[in-house]
Amino acid sequence: MTTVGILGGGQLARMMALAGAPLGLRFSVMDTSAEACAGQFAPLVVGDYRDHAALAEFASAIDIATFDFENVPAGSAQWLSERVPMFPDPRALGTSQDRLAEKTLFGELGIPVPGYVAVDTPEDLEAAIAKLGVPCILKTRRLGYDGKGQFRIRAAGDAGAAWEALGGQAASGGLILEAFVPFERELSVVAVRGRDGEFRTWPLTENWHVDGVLSASLAPARVDPALEAQAVGYARALAEALDYVGVFALELFCRDGGLLANELAPRVHNSGHWTIEGAETSQFANHLRAVLGLPLGDTRPLGRSCMLNWIGRMPDAAAVLAEPGGHWHDYGKTSREGRKVGHATLRADSDEALADALGRVGAALGREAQVAPVIARLG
Ligand code: ATP
Ligand code: MG
Ligand code: MG
Repeated sequence: MTTVGILGGGQLARMMALAGAPLGLRFSVMDTSAEACAGQFAPLVVGDYRDHAALAEFASAIDIATFDFENVPAGSAQWLSERVPMFPDPRALGTSQDRLAEKTLFGELGIPVPGYVAVDTPEDLEAAIAKLGVPCILKTRRLGYDGKGQFRIRAAGDAGAAWEALGGQAASGGLILEAFVPFERELSVVAVRGRDGEFRTWPLTENWHVDGVLSASLAPARVDPALEAQAVGYARALAEALDYVGVFALELFCRDGGLLANELAPRVHNSGHWTIEGAETSQFANHLRAVLGLPLGDTRPLGRSCMLNWIGRMPDAAAVLAEPGGHWHDYGKTSREGRKVGHATLRADSDEALADALGRVGAALGREAQVAPVIARLG
C-alpha cells in the first residue's frame, strides 16, 4: 500500500486523491488550513510549511511526495525531498515560483515571451513603463495566483497607484513589469513527463479568463496543427530542461498567429480539468502514474469538452446533470467571493451538440456571458 503525500490540500489535491483511489493509493495532505477541502478525503496535517515538526509528521506517514500548489517555500520542499522521494523536483518548483527566473528560462530555450523588466524601486517602475509603454501589467514575481498580485497600468500616470498597491512586496520577492499582450486567444498545453522521460500532451486547450481568473476552457482547441506542434515543442523543451516529472501546464498567448509564453504551472492545472471526463486518461491519473513510475496513460480526447468554472458559490446542479454529457464537481468549499468552488464539464460528440448543451446550461443558470465566447468559437 503506497501513501502519496500532497503539499497543499485544495481542490487539485482532492481530485488527485479521487483519481488515485482506483490505483489502490492512499493519500495524506498537508495544508495551512484545517478547512482544506482535500481533507474530506485524506488525512490532513495542518501546519506552516516552514515548520519542520509539522513537515516531519507529514513525512513520517507518506512514501512519496508531490504538490497541489507551487508556492510551497523552496527550502521546505528541499527539506522534505531529502527525506521522501519528491516529484516534481524542488528545482522545477523554484524556477516557476519566480516569474523572472521563469521568463529567463523561457528565453534561454528560445520560447518567445512578452516584453518584461524587473522592478525593485519606484524609479525602476517609471523607467520600465517608459521602456515597455502602456498598457502594461505590474506583477509580483512570487506568490501570485488567480490574477492576485497584479496591477494593470493603463496610463503612465498610474505608476503611483501601482506602486502603492504592490510596492510593499518589492522588498520580499521583487516585482516584474510586463507588456500587455492584446492576444486573440489564450491557449494552454497540459503535459506529462514520466520518470523515464516519456513525454505526452493532451490536445491544446483554449481558455477564457475573467478578472484574471479562469472562466471556461474548450478542448481540443481549434488551432492550426503547426501552431499546436510549436506549443508542444515549447512544453517538451521546458520539461526536458527542468528534468520534470509529473503533470504541468504551459500558458500561452496567441497573437498575430504566433505564440508568447505567459507562465508555467508546475502541477495539475485548472485548464486540464476537462480531461477527467474528456480524455482517455485524466491529468490527475497521469500525474500519479508519472510520480510513481508507472506507465503513462493515453491522453487522447473523447469527443469535445467544455469546462466551466464556478467562482464564489455553486450554482444549482440540475441543468448540468440533465445533459447527457454533463458532469458536476463540487469541491466541498464554503462560498466566498472570487473563490473557485467547483466546475462542470460538458462533453459531446460534435461542436454543434456541445454548443447546444452550453446554450441550455448557460440559459438555465443565468450564465449566458460565461458560455457565449465558447459558443462563438464553436459556431
Ligand atoms: P494563475 O491562476 O493562472 O496562476 P496568475 O495569478 O499566475 O494566474 P497570470 O497567468 O499571470 O496570473 O495572469 C492571469 C490572466 O491575466 C492571464 O491568463 C491573462 O488573461 C491575463 N494576463 C496576464 N498577463 C498578461 C499580459 N502580459 N498581457 C495580457 N493579459 C495578461
Ligand atoms: Mg500563475
Ligand atoms: Mg496563469
